[in-house]
Amino acid sequence: MTDPRDLDGVRATLQAEAIRLRAELGEPIEGPGQMTYGSQAAAATHVFEQQRDLALRDRERAQLRQVEEALERLATGTFGTCRSCGQPIAEERLAAIPWAATCIECARAAR
Ligand SMILES: [Zn+2]
Repeated sequence: MTDPRDLDGVRATLQAEAIRLRAELGEPIEGPGQMTYGSQAAAATHVFEQQRDLALRDRERAQLRQVEEALERLATGTFGTCRSCGQPIAEERLAAIPWAATCIECARAAR
């Protein structure tokens, strides 16, 4: 848990998260060229794993963007303010998700 009032702590958490995500995104996904088809089943499993990795990577890329935007908001002094309605984001929400860009009401409305 991060204390959202401790901005240095928040910054450290966000930076660590950005480094972790960049490292994971930097790892290559095994492409079709390196595949050895032992059987149809093995091939299907491999394709499935590749799809799963790509889906995971999409999520990580989206999260990295959110983390980077949160670091920008920290730098510009707008951290903790909802991007949609301009109201403060609840501390419990920021403690759980320091890179949250919107308050819980706007996050629900966007879904
Ligand atoms: Zn809002």
